[in-house]
Amino acid sequence: MNSPDTQVQELRRQLKQLLEAAHANERKLDRFDALERRLIAVDSMEELVHLLLVECRQEFGLDAAELWLLDVDDELRRALPALPMVRTPRLLDGHGPLRSLFGAVRVTRLIAPGPDEALLREAFAPEAGVRSAALLPLIRQGLLIGSLHFGSRDPERYDSSSGTKFLDRLAAIAAISIESMLNRERLRRAGMTDGLTGVHNRRYFDHRSLIEFSQAVRHRYPLACLFLDIDHFKAINDGHGHPAGDEVLRQVGGLILRTLRTGDLAARYGGEEFIVLLPRTDRDGAREVAERIRLQVQDAPFITPEGGTLRATVSVGLAMLPAGATNFATLLDLADRALYAAKRAGRNRTLGDDELSAATATAS
Ligand code: GH3
Ligand code: MG
Ligand code: MG
Repeated sequence: MNSPDTQVQELRRQLKQLLEAAHANERKLDRFDALERRLIAVDSMEELVHLLLVECRQEFGLDAAELWLLDVDDELRRALPALPMVRTPRLLDGHGPLRSLFGAVRVTRLIAPGPDEALLREAFAPEAGVRSAALLPLIRQGLLIGSLHFGSRDPERYDSSSGTKFLDRLAAIAAISIESMLNRERLRRAGMTDGLTGVHNRRYFDHRSLIEFSQAVRHRYPLACLFLDIDHFKAINDGHGHPAGDEVLRQVGGLILRTLRTGDLAARYGGEEFIVLLPRTDRDGAREVAERIRLQVQDAPFITPEGGTLRATVSVGLAMLPAGATNFATLLDLADRALYAAKRAGRNRTLGDDELSAATATAS
């Protein structure tokens, strides 16, 4: 039988333990609280990603952190390269990877060595050496939009018997932050993008082209310009209907975007006219790009809204920024004249400003 003294000592010890646990919980709560406040206040996508992938990792003493985001329509794939990021999220083009982590249940999962261990190899790079992890589903309006993974080399850091209340809350707030960031990014892009074709609009082009012009002049590198115009587009509208015409425009826009490199600039200049600027590209390179676009349009079966197909071609005027040019309008004017000459020479062709006098001579 224990003496009253030892009983008191034992009670003291238990009390001390409870207090320590309470303090630890309070500190944990404070840490989560501070993080949540910052999550709500972030104002750029790169800051958000940094917070979730770099700072969370330091703050919680983790060995790995991953962010997966669903990006079915390539919206993020287009937006992210322009952002200065230390770590980038993994973009998913389908639901498959998320489904294999969460199944239909979609709740926070704590993974420790055991039957579910294989998931760690899906959720983290193998070299991270993760032995236990928390996998947090990011859900907005009932839809799974991504996941956040916190991993540790300590096999006992996360185990399935622990509570997930703090993590659940963090995931909910992270999901809201991500969604609001995406909405801001969409709005920002909408101001500079043509809604029908997805290429930049004229307003953005007018702004960017001046920057490209002055850069090319200052650093003395070539600047090429392509003016593209769909041939007999009026006949497409008249023969197949305006919605079919829209569809052709949309597909030509997509095709141009896929042909260009990062740093090139494409915009819808007017109704069925597109303009492309190719910095650091010489005439041969520019002609190659122009011909690639022209041939792809020529060979593409354009799908109409009714499910039929139709053919289209484009004419391209190509011009190089002349040495000593003092304004950008000179380049535009040359490309425009080359386009006009391409039309007169029979359409579905690329014509350069260096061929202008010859073309004009034959035509007149
Ligand atoms: P060309 O080969 O000489 O370029 O002939 P074209 O018929 O393409 O040229 P034109 O300038 O005569 O006609 C352009 C047509 O483009 C007229 C206009 O109704 C149509 N258009 C302009 N914007 C849009 C649009 O957003 N959607 C559709 N469907 N048609 C448009
Ligand atoms: Mg036309
Ligand atoms: Mg036109």
